[in-house]
Amino acid sequence: MTEKDARRAIERVLFTKDDIAAKVRELASRIDVDYRGKDLVAVCVLNGAMIFFADLIRAMSVPAEVDSVCASSYGNGTRSCGTVTFGKDVGTDIRGRHVLLVEDIIDSGLTMAALTEELKKREPASVRVCALLDKPSRRVNGFTADYTGFEIPDEFVVGYGLDLGGKYRCLDSICVLAREKSE
Ligand code: 5GP
Ligand code: MG
Repeated sequence: MTEKDARRAIERVLFTKDDIAAKVRELASRIDVDYRGKDLVAVCVLNGAMIFFADLIRAMSVPAEVDSVCASSYGNGTRSCGTVTFGKDVGTDIRGRHVLLVEDIIDSGLTMAALTEELKKREPASVRVCALLDKPSRRVNGFTADYTGFEIPDEFVVGYGLDLGGKYRCLDSICVLAREKSE
């Protein structure tokens, strides 16, 4: 896909690079206050959160060990298939440690509910979730993140790490796709 094709498919920009940077600083400040002096393991939920994660951990002052996990409830379409599949697991021994899962977006809530339940079996000191984006109107299970960047309506978004079929991750803003491109 060329850059021109990517631009053509975008209906509108929801959050600019500057909006996102300000929100990342705000979230990092809250995390700094809450985790000061604690043994923190920050876990990136691949692949969508990779860019947010990289920016967030560098904006934080509290030191964190970093790891990643791959959990997904999406194929190549824009709607959840309802099943959560786990790819790469967290390699770090999290027993007795504070875990912060960093996620791109919470939609149905199925992925984060399943992932937090799984990690709690390993007896960490705590498990919290930081999500850059949240679509509360799509929730099926009442899941709430501990730190949320932006609440958005029920629209499919791409950019800043979020993809559609592997595309658009490298955009530096968060955008809504034109409908014919996203369905
Ligand atoms: P959930 O399990 O909460 O339904 O789905 C969460 C995952 O679905 C997210 O981590 C993300 O990968 C994907 N997802 C949900 N909504 C969107 C969206 O609007 N755009 C993109 N690119 N991915 C989404
Ligand atoms: Mg995700």
